[in-house]
Parts: sequence; C-alpha cells; structure tokens
Amino acid sequence: MSEKFDVVILGGGNAGIGVTGPVRRAGLSVAMIEARDLGGTCPNRGCTPKKILVAAGHALHEIERASVHHIAVGKPKLDWAALIDREKDMIKDIPANLARSMAKRRVEVIKGHAAFAGPNAIRVDNRTLEAKHIVIATGSKPRPLPIPGAEHMITSDEMLSERELPGSVIFVGGGVISLEFGHVYARAGADVTILEALPQLLPAMDADAVAQLQAESERIGIRVNTNVSVKKIEPANGRLRVTFVHDGREQALEADRIVNGAGRIANVDTLDLEAGNVAQTSGRVAVDAHLRSTSNPLVHVCGDAVPISPQLSPIATYEGDIVGRNIVEGPKYRPDYESMATSVYTVPELAAVGLTEGAARQKGLTIDVHVNDMLGWFSARTYAETVAWSKVIVEKATDRVLGAHFVGHAGQELVNIFGLAMRFGITATQIRENVFAYPTFASDIKHMLGHA
Ligand SMILES: Cc1cc2nc3c(=O)[nH]c(=O)nc-3n(C[C@H](O)[C@H](O)[C@H](O)COP(=O)(O)OP(=O)(O)OC[C@H]3O[C@@H](n4cnc5c(N)ncnc54)[C@H](O)[C@@H]3O)c2cc1C
Repeated sequence: MSEKFDVVILGGGNAGIGVTGPVRRAGLSVAMIEARDLGGTCPNRGCTPKKILVAAGHALHEIERASVHHIAVGKPKLDWAALIDREKDMIKDIPANLARSMAKRRVEVIKGHAAFAGPNAIRVDNRTLEAKHIVIATGSKPRPLPIPGAEHMITSDEMLSERELPGSVIFVGGGVISLEFGHVYARAGADVTILEALPQLLPAMDADAVAQLQAESERIGIRVNTNVSVKKIEPANGRLRVTFVHDGREQALEADRIVNGAGRIANVDTLDLEAGNVAQTSGRVAVDAHLRSTSNPLVHVCGDAVPISPQLSPIATYEGDIVGRNIVEGPKYRPDYESMATSVYTVPELAAVGLTEGAARQKGLTIDVHVNDMLGWFSARTYAETVAWSKVIVEKATDRVLGAHFVGHAGQELVNIFGLAMRFGITATQIRENVFAYPTFASDIKHMLGHA
C-alpha cells in the first residue's frame, strides 16, 4: 500500500526546508525524507561550523597585529581539540530544533535513504510514497578525483571533526574549501600547500581579486602551486606523499593530511533517476528555467543538486522557495542569480557580487572599473589591515553597478550593500549620495566608486 502526499521532498537541508514554507502555507501535505541530520550540510558540516573555526583564525590575525596598537602579547597557543569541541557544541542542537520547526509546520519527516520507485513514487526502506510533486534537494558531495590513492584523502567532514591539528596539510584543488580551511590551518601553525590544476585559484572569481588573496595567503606561509597535475597519492614514512607534475617536472611532497579540495558535485547518483523518468546529462539532472526536470515535470530540483547554480546555502534556500511557489502556483518563477553576494571566508576574506571584470568585458559591456588599493586609507590604517582592496564595475550607459569585489576591508559585509544596489537598481551615483555612518568601512564605499 502506498501513502499519498501532495509533495515529497528528498533531503532536509536548506533547499528542502526552503520548499516547505510556500507549500505548507498553501495547505499541501508534505513528507520530507532525510538520510542524515535535518539542516543538511550548511549548519551541520558546512558554513556554520566552518565559520567557528574561521572566527578563531580572525582572533589569531588580530593578535598578529596587536603590536600596531602597542599591545604586547606572547605567542598565541590554539587548543585545537577545544576549538573543535566548541564548534560541535555550538551546532549540536540544530537538527533537533529544526525537527521541532518541521513538526510545527506539520511536515512529516521520515528518516531514511530515498530513491525513485516510479515517475510519481518514492521508496524509503519498505515504504512507498506517492506524490503529485517530488523535489530533489539531496545536496552535493565531494568531487571524486580519478587519482591512484585518492582514497587516502580526507574531506571537509574530517577537517571539522578531527581533534588533532595536523602538522602539515596538502590541498588537492584550490577552491573555496581549500582556501578557507588552509587559512585557518596556516594561522593555527600548520604547514599548508595548495595544488591547483588550473592557472588560477578560485577560477570563477575576479582574477585581480584572486591575485590579492593569493599574495596574502603566501604572506601567511601558504605555498600555492597552480598548473599542477597530481599523479598519485601513497602512504610514505608514516605520512602521505603526493606526486605531481609542475612546470614539466615530476615532484613529490609529504604531509600528515591530504584534502580533496576539488569542489563538489550534485548528489543524485543513488536516486534511481531512471525509475523516476528523470533525464540526466553527464550525471546531472537536466532542468528547465523553472528548476523542473525536463523529462518529468512533476519533479523539481533545488539547492546544490541543481547542476547550474552556485553551491551556496542562501541560494539553496532561495531555489527551494522558488520550487515551493512553482508547486503552489504553477511554473511561474525562475531563479535570478545576478545579484547574489558571496564570500570566501579566508582571513581576510574575498567577497564578491555580480560580474568579474573579465566576464563584463567578454560580454562586450562598456564599463568603468574602479580599482582601489585601500591600505593607505585611514580606515585600513586604523585597523592595521594587511590587505584592503576593492574593484567596482559600473556600466557607463546606465550607471548601474555590475560587480563588486573585495579582499579584506569588511568585504563580507560591504558586498551585501552592493548586492542590494544591484538587485533594486540603485545606481552608482545614488550610492555615492548616501550618507554613511562615519568612521566605518562602509563610509569608504563612496570613495571606492571614484568621483562622478
Ligand atoms: C565545508 C563546507 C563549507 C561551506 N561553507 C559555506 C558558506 O560559508 N556559505 C555558503 O553559502 N555555503 C557554504 N557551503 C555550501 C552549503 O553548505 C550548501 O550550498 C548548502 O548546504 C546546500 O543545501 P542543500 O539543501 O542543497 O543541500 P544539503 O544541505 O547538503 O542537504 C541535502 C540533504 O539531503 C540528504 N540526502 C541526500 N541524499 C538523500 C537521499 N537519497 N534520501 C534522503 N536524504 C538524502 C542529505 O543527508 C542532506 O541532509 C559549504 C559547504 C561545505 C561542504
């Protein structure tokens, strides 16, 4: 006997939870199947616990610069095990709190691994659920690397759990996770190397911003090698050895831990998509502009499982809400990713919204590019920043901000002001005309935009 629901959601992360708001407000019956912890990656194994480690990195950064303020401090000593305990303690109640909130919304949460049993049916253990709408919100997983010895690599899950600080770490891949954890490890005293296959770290980010961040990463002792081809990983001398080719020369490095930092892919390979008549292209669910399966319009996709959008938690929630509204009102809503602010939480951070300069030029747009090295500005000197850099891209014809990029200078906060301006059509001139509280980093925004 199958049970009947209006909506069955696979995955209880940001995306799945995002769906529940609109569909429950419309009175639809909802089941949510979650294999692990409610909340998914972001609060349990991603953004939230990671930021707790990053915050410790910030404290170490402040201590490093204390002498500028004529404060004498000894060499700081970070108790890594206690920091991991603090992180775990801060997040431990999240799944239970979310279970309460789902119960309050009258979403039936089912524990287990879900897979398709038919175009409108889901199997979980020995239950079959029939639904008018099925939502794939199963998130992502680390990209498997076809390297001999890849099984020796750890992922962010272990980095957030191991209570011993490794003496040395090599990151294979120079993406967001490698840079963020690399900065924390390096500031905590570990020896850190990043090996990146492409010519640039963080390839989707503005090249000049990345160059600033790479310089700062090297300043704190991180070794960065780009254009690297990793050949194999093997145990050696009680540690792990990575063999790679760089500049045409085969080399090897040893470390206590090797991390898979090669990004994440949609987690859909165990869903039996064929049984659900859900078409795929190279292992990704094919979706239309409304985030529906192109072959089965009852099936919707949101969050990291979407093949085309940035894998970020606010975007997962946003897409979940769009899917929920499309279920209630029909396929009306499409995601718009143009003004989504993001940050790489290094210490200091690289934050960005909108187009990179390269992308704007490739589109043939006529732009003003305002680049500022702000290290000499009063605000940067007051806080003894080690890097303070911005680039704001404005379309000449419309005076609209097309992109903003920061390294340091409270960029992770300021980027949201630019995101707001982009989303609601506030022009560069209007931003300049705003009266900002002084002295704040935000009060520098008008100078970042140059003079009209
Ligand atoms: C280390 C790390 C740090 C990050 N930091 C940031 C950050 O600072 N800022 C940011 O915006 N984003 C960050 N992210 C990304 C962010 O966590 C994701 O974008 C977000 O969690 C995606 O939400 P989601 O709901 O799509 O997927 P998830 O949160 O992954 O939820 C999917 C859920 O589906 C469940 N599931 C999977 N398969 C099945 C199945 N077959 N049956 C039942 N349940 C299933 C999983 O158990 C999981 O709980 C980070 C990610 C990582 C790994």
